[in-house]
Amino acid sequence: MVIVLKPGTTDREKDHIVQKIKDAGLMPHVLIGEERTVIAIIGDERAFQKQALTALPGVEKAVPILSPYKLVSREFKKEDTIVEVNGIKIGGNNVVVMAGPCSVETNDLLTSIAIEIKKAGASILRGGAFKPRTSPYSFQGLGEEGLEYLSEARQRTGLPIITEVLDPRDMPMMAKHADILQVGARNMQNFKLLEEVGSQSKPVMLKRGLSATIKEFLLSAEYIMSAGNPRVILCERGIRTFETQTRNTLDLSAVPVLKRLTHLPVIVDPSHAVGKTYLVAPMAKAAIAAGADGLMIEVHSNPAEAFCDGDQAMLPDDFKQLMIELDRIAVAVGRTLSLGTPASTASTP
Ligand code: PEP
Ligand code: MN
Repeated sequence: MVIVLKPGTTDREKDHIVQKIKDAGLMPHVLIGEERTVIAIIGDERAFQKQALTALPGVEKAVPILSPYKLVSREFKKEDTIVEVNGIKIGGNNVVVMAGPCSVETNDLLTSIAIEIKKAGASILRGGAFKPRTSPYSFQGLGEEGLEYLSEARQRTGLPIITEVLDPRDMPMMAKHADILQVGARNMQNFKLLEEVGSQSKPVMLKRGLSATIKEFLLSAEYIMSAGNPRVILCERGIRTFETQTRNTLDLSAVPVLKRLTHLPVIVDPSHAVGKTYLVAPMAKAAIAAGADGLMIEVHSNPAEAFCDGDQAMLPDDFKQLMIELDRIAVAVGRTLSLGTPASTASTP
């Protein structure tokens, strides 16, 4: 249920309503909007007397949220959520591009790729230090050393860092280095991990599970928000289908579906969706045309020797060309591509 407060409700009246909700053993989530303040009530609402609540001073109405997810739903919050990271706005009218290698390999390579993607106009650097590999014998990532290289690349370029957290026990270490925590597709329903990232303050990008429905995806986002973290970004990265020409099948219609169901920003990762470099640019463009709030793209200067996912990595020059095309598409659909440095005028930092 959502309680809509009357315009001009005092803080005292609001606190009283919040207390009443807590007294009933339920969890209030207050959302102060530009025009209205609303309070979502999470928990078993049978314990609650709706009439007693609507009679409280300051309450305009109580509206049920019909969807199974509450805090992430558009029913709860009409306006788009904008997640801000070091001054970069993810969501709203902006289109933001995150790019970088699949995994952090060497310090020099990471820094050189970071410089290239910044020149091309990307706003955020991606790179995995802990890799969720299908085989236990594959490269598992550099761990803390990789996080340190990411921090150095941020210092050098000013680009914020997004990196995957695999284990709740790594959180203190991740908190030192990451600007955005990524929860990977394989961990979308690792509920302890979701609660852990939900109980800290950094933004979280949640990737859709390999075989997850949109409802399951949103319920996982609800775990993070209900644990107290409202800074959640969703990422469509392709789902498993019978098709074998592509690594996964990019569910492009998930973008407008999600935009309708939730106020959270939606990013598309075409790299993991298609698994082949030649398909990344067309799907990246399609994603922006379909209304995505941004992209995550794997870029590597020597894909043939990449430790991981070389088959889907774009070369920096091709990525730069793509950014120029994305800029045009963003304009055509009434959006603005956030350029770290404008693609056409970029120079070495
Ligand atoms: C990644 O982005 O590094 C990754 C492993 O992607 P996914 O979780 O979507 O497979
Ligand atoms: Mn990868």
